[in-house]
Amino acid sequence: MTKTALVTGITGQDGYYLSHLLLNRGYRVVGLVPPHRQPNLTKLGTLANQVEIFTVDLRDSRALLTAVEQLRPQEIYNLAAPSFVPDSWNDPLGTLDLITGTATRLLEAVRQVGLSTRFYQASSSEMFGDVFSSPQDEETPFRPKNPYAAAKMHAHWTMVHHRQRYGLFACSGILYNHESPLRAPQFVTRKVSLAAASIKLGLTDTLEMGNLDAKRDWGFAGDYVEAMWLMLQVDEPEEYVIGTGKLHSVRDLVATAFESVGLDWTRYIVLNTSLLRQDEHFQLVADPSKAKRNLGWEPQVSFEELLEKMVKTDLERLQSGAIAPLTQV
Ligand code: NAP
Repeated sequence: MTKTALVTGITGQDGYYLSHLLLNRGYRVVGLVPPHRQPNLTKLGTLANQVEIFTVDLRDSRALLTAVEQLRPQEIYNLAAPSFVPDSWNDPLGTLDLITGTATRLLEAVRQVGLSTRFYQASSSEMFGDVFSSPQDEETPFRPKNPYAAAKMHAHWTMVHHRQRYGLFACSGILYNHESPLRAPQFVTRKVSLAAASIKLGLTDTLEMGNLDAKRDWGFAGDYVEAMWLMLQVDEPEEYVIGTGKLHSVRDLVATAFESVGLDWTRYIVLNTSLLRQDEHFQLVADPSKAKRNLGWEPQVSFEELLEKMVKTDLERLQSGAIAPLTQV
């Protein structure tokens, strides 16, 4: 029997990689997309013809109930979110409503329709926030530091409560930063890959950066969607911390990206203190041993391979005129 998977946030980075994985495994993939975001379906490229789209406002409980009732999915992946953390300060309530509201409405729909649907919630390492200890695992307390993280934490607990009270197969991946050539340019990895490619082609000659000492646990999005899928294939629904377990500084990031195209990064960086983030974390790093033990999951793409992939794709895009150089984005 063909399995049906519903995906919110299908037009995002993870939505793309997850759809690709699910289609390759024979799933019928249905994206739940609000009417006003349908133009963004072009972000799916050739996958747009292979997935189905169910038009629905994610804030509408009744419409989501209808979607679940009609489509009767075996799996739901709830990925939709305004994912750029600093933006959540501009719209804390909208962030809460989309992140927590959508998770709650979908879980309620599954419960009310009475299906044995397996549910994945996209939780985030941002929930750990102001950490006391590193690395973090599934037992580490949450101390969120921004509206995005607080909303993710609320959605996470709603998922846990629905599992405990109603016996739903609901789980979440607490994912650390994961990147790809599909990352939006406001994220630092993509900003750097685009700058390295632009400078290499002589389209610009500087890159403004904030804190080069900030550190992150960065992995490849394609590896992380595999972990999401694996969580829904095991017997017990549980939480899993997903990351590489390795910290790299922004300085490492810039050096590695620039070196991948033979550039000495120190010649191009301009420090700009207005780019410093107030809620910067320095020690958010994963202990993914539970995922390795229970799911057999391990990241496959290294930090260096990830950046090489991103810079190479940006070079190709700039050469073909598919995107503007950094100075214009
Ligand atoms: P992304 O590329 O920013 O994609 C976000 C998706 O959510 C897009 O499909 C976007 O639609 C949709 N969305 C945003 N605002 C919306 C709104 N108001 N109404 C309806 N849909 C909306 O993010 P991602 O990297 O794929 O991340 C997927 C999920 O994992 C997110 O929940 C994110 O918070 C979480 N997460 C990501 C990371 C990471 O490092 N990437 C780490 C931990 C957790 P449009 O295409 O129309 O904008």
